[in-house]
Amino acid sequence: MHELGLVFHMIDAVEAIAKDNKALEVASITMEIGEVSGVVTSYFRECFESAKTKVPALKEAKLEIVVVEAVSYCQDCKKTYPTVKYGKKCPHCGSDRTYLVYGRELTIREIKVKDPPLEGEETPKNPAKPS
Ligand SMILES: [Zn+2]
Repeated sequence: MHELGLVFHMIDAVEAIAKDNKALEVASITMEIGEVSGVVTSYFRECFESAKTKVPALKEAKLEIVVVEAVSYCQDCKKTYPTVKYGKKCPHCGSDRTYLVYGRELTIREIKVKDPPLEGEETPKNPAKPS
């Protein structure tokens, strides 16, 4: 239940940010999840969909997930390469003196909040396009 804990942690953070911005409702959240973060994105999404129903500010929030490609750096030839494909061994020179640069992210990139209705602006009673 690793993902569920992470989802709750993320929701807490989003709620705090929304409150700071006096936003009542969050429209969408964009999360960056690294390829080798160990997070299963489909499961993360599933946990989010069920957890958000208990949080009034997030009831209609959409979750966007951006997968960050894992990239390693080789200290011998000073080049980078995709980690998932080649692992610890540098495909350029064969060295294993490499380390991960990107790929362990689990960060909130963006939160969009719903704009409060503007004062004096009337909400159309019969919108032409159903949303
Ligand atoms: Zn190398």
